[in-house]
Parts: sequence; structure tokens; C-alpha cells
Amino acid sequence: MLTTSLTGRSVLVTGGSKGIGKGIARVFARAGAKVLIVARHLDVAEATARELAGQNGTVSATAADVTDLAAMTAAAELAVARHGGLDVLCANAGIFPTTKLEDMSPENWDEVVGTHLKGTLIAVKACLPALKKSNQGRIVVTSSITGPVTGFPGWTHYGATKAGQLGFIRTACIELAKYGITVNAVSPGNVLTEGLQGMGEDYLKTMAASIPAKRLGEVEDIGYAALFLASKEAGYITGQTIIVDGGQIVLESLEALAQA
Ligand code: NAP
Repeated sequence: MLTTSLTGRSVLVTGGSKGIGKGIARVFARAGAKVLIVARHLDVAEATARELAGQNGTVSATAADVTDLAAMTAAAELAVARHGGLDVLCANAGIFPTTKLEDMSPENWDEVVGTHLKGTLIAVKACLPALKKSNQGRIVVTSSITGPVTGFPGWTHYGATKAGQLGFIRTACIELAKYGITVNAVSPGNVLTEGLQGMGEDYLKTMAASIPAKRLGEVEDIGYAALFLASKEAGYITGQTIIVDGGQIVLESLEALAQA
């Protein structure tokens, strides 16, 4: 049976306190994994861990910034101490500041590049010593359709980093294959997170209407894809991306939806 192999596995989810990361943590915990949530705000992360308690697995939390190697190394060591090892890193932490190109400062750029690209490198570096000791090491990066496939005003920096993460996994998977570690990505479309909920009913209705599946993604939709990539059964898949978007990017135009 698929993903039976996740029971008892040790999983670290960056950005696991909210949104998609919380969905990933919930799905892994339901599958019997031992999950450590990592985010900057400990109170929020601990509240999420409490909320997700009582699944098949366990969920706990710690505070670390993905741009801080020492803090992320401590988080990885905590996962090893609490769970007896580390098998899966879900490098998911992300931010969404919007700034149009003409107004974008180098500081705006550095914040997003630092969180998504340097943050991915640091999360991987911090977890690598423990992942190398696993007999089923898995790295799953949360990218996006925005950047690798599509664009959106205000997000030149965001899009560049999300495309950059896919470049990262293609070389990382080659370097880490000798340790039995796979490196893959999930690329969400528009997912209904707490942040998106604040955009209001009209916005959400318009978004849903432009997706063949006629709904926004749920955070668990991304969790299921990550769970598959983390499974024993996905051990021969590496350097790849699963797009989870309800068919949003395959539309040639909105007319394609109208004629369906
Ligand atoms: P979210 O709801 O805002 O959650 C972001 C998470 O990342 C929080 O747990 C946050 O906690 C953490 N975080 C942010 N900066 C961090 C840092 N420097 N160090 C450690 N943790 C940090 O965001 P989301 O929508 O779930 O997005 C998660 C990922 O999915 C991102 O990589 C994003 O690019 C990707 N994505 C999202 C969508 C979507 O529709 N939502 C679509 C495509 C891709 P703290 O603030 O406490 O640190």
C-alpha cells in the first residue's frame, strides 16, 4: 500500500505553523510521522502543534529563521533528539511582499531571495548530516507556479526565487543521490491559506472560476503531493516537480474554460 512507509518517520517542515506548511504537517502526522514544525514565531508554531496533536503521529514546534544557519542546525538537531533521526525535510517557508519592478529596491529583492533561495540552501545544509544517516532521505521544496510557469504583477522577485528553487533541486538531486536522498518540489497554484482568505469573497470567487477544478487548492492538496514524494515508493523520482493547481496552468485562455 502507498505511503505505509511514513509511519514513525521523522519530518521537519519549515513554515509549518501556517498555511501550506500546516497542511503538510497535518498530512504527515495523519500518516503516522513524527513532525517538527519550524517557524520564526514560536507561539504560533506551538499553537499549531497543539492543534495537530492527536493524529496518528506526533507534532511539536521550535523557532528558527531559515536564513540563519546556526538556528536551523539547532532545529535539525532537535528533530534528531526528539525523533531519533531525520528522514524528510519539507523546505516550505515563504513570504509574499508585492512590489512592482519600478519601485523595487535592492533590499526588497534581498528579503525575498534570502528567504526562498538562501533559506532553501540553509535548510538543506542544516538537515543534510541527519538526512544522510536515513535510509530514506527526502527533500521536498515548496516552489510555485508563479515564476517557473506564470507571472503576476508585483512578484518579479518572488517569481525569480520560485524558478530558482527548481534550478536548485536539479543539481542538488545529482549531488545527493549517492546518499539515497531524493530532492523534488511541489508547485502549488492558488491555495486557500489564512492570508488568501483575507482577500475577500469576491476575489476568491473570481479566482476559483478561472480554475478548471472550480475551486482553490486546499493546503492538504499540497501535503498529499509532498507525502507521496517522501514515500518509499517515490524513491526513484528525483529532481522533479509536481504541479498541484487544479489545472490552472493548462488553460490556453479563459475561453478554453468557457467551451468546456
Ligand atoms: P503562509 O501561510 O504565510 O505561511 C508561511 C510560513 O512560513 C509561516 O509558518 C511562517 O512563519 C514561515 N516563515 C516565513 N518566513 C520564514 C523564515 N524566514 N524562517 C522560518 N519560517 C518562515 O504562506 P503559504 O501561503 O503557506 O506559503 C508557504 C509556501 O508555499 C511558500 O514557499 C510559498 O511560496 C508557497 N506557495 C504558496 C501558494 C499559496 O497559494 N498560498 C502558492 C504557491 C506557492 P513565521 O512568520 O512565524 O516565520
